Amino acid sequence: MKFSVPFIPDKAYIRFLTEKISFLESVYFGLHSGPVLDSRIRFTQMDLSSLGKSLISMEGIKKYCLLNTRFIRPDLYTDTHFLNQLLDSLKFLHDKCHINGIVVSDFYMLNALDRTGHDMVPNLEAIPGINCMMDSSQKIVSHMEMIENTRFMMPEKLVLDRSLNRDPEKLNNMILCIKSLYPHIKIELLANEGCIYHCPFKPAHDAQISLSNTGMVKENTHAVNRAAGCHAYFHQHPEKFFKSPFIRPEDVIHYQGVADSLKLCGRTLGPGFLTRCITAYCKNDHDGNLLELMDATHFLASFFHLDNRQLGEGFFKKITTCTKVCKNCSICHDLFLNAVEKKSITLKPYGKDQ
Ligand code: SF4
Repeated sequence: MKFSVPFIPDKAYIRFLTEKISFLESVYFGLHSGPVLDSRIRFTQMDLSSLGKSLISMEGIKKYCLLNTRFIRPDLYTDTHFLNQLLDSLKFLHDKCHINGIVVSDFYMLNALDRTGHDMVPNLEAIPGINCMMDSSQKIVSHMEMIENTRFMMPEKLVLDRSLNRDPEKLNNMILCIKSLYPHIKIELLANEGCIYHCPFKPAHDAQISLSNTGMVKENTHAVNRAAGCHAYFHQHPEKFFKSPFIRPEDVIHYQGVADSLKLCGRTLGPGFLTRCITAYCKNDHDGNLLELMDATHFLASFFHLDNRQLGEGFFKKITTCTKVCKNCSICHDLFLNAVEKKSITLKPYGKDQ
């Protein structure tokens, strides 16, 4: 199995990625300067020239720029200066290190970029981001038709919604259908997000991040999640973590021959987290706290040690064949009692490696 992983400008991490290059399908990265156009809060600044220089070491694998914000400030859709400047930046990276395309969730922005007439557009694949949540063939067709309507190149891969990870039958049928329509398309699945299954907070969370990235309001999504979102929910029901559609490193084998690659996320958690995570998935093995490999539920690792080895070989079958109607089922609760130890809390200094 190949992996698509975040690229962050950290020397030791880049060295690590070059050692793992044979496992990689692609790297994806946000622009580290200018307006924030990806779907996360920006922590590091880096000028375009340095970004291009550091991406050169990722030779032989695909490179995608994340423009996957849910939305941008409304006036920017018609701001030709802004749009052309953005495409100039992509052209710079394309010339410097052969980036392959962009990942987008906001199709207004996709159309706006296309309508500039910029000569870079036909050189870039437009890949619908994971937050397009493509969980049906019809949804995929609709996104593909929209891309076909632009001058962007059609995507060479599709990233399917994470909920499908826990429904092998639906996943297989959907892939059969996609491949009959787009025979050369590759399929990618998201492995380690660790979010709530069909998360009801997600649309608002993505919108809140984009809103704060416009600069119009202060970033407050973390506090909101602790007060009224997934952090509060998981603190109340930590056993629901098992319902989250993550793929354990040991279970990658079950997706072999189904998906072409797995996406690993967690770029805001830093190089220490990413190195641990990529190492575990490349080995298909993690001897330690499973929560330490998750992106959204990484915070639970400060409260619980979830011994991955204790989950055993039957884990995949249990969580992919259940009804997901949990009212009358105690499987996740029992798994949690067996494999989890509550930690005594230790506070790490702010900014310390995750
Ligand atoms: S139905 Fe049972 S096994 Fe499935 S997610 Fe709910 S509690 Fe877990």
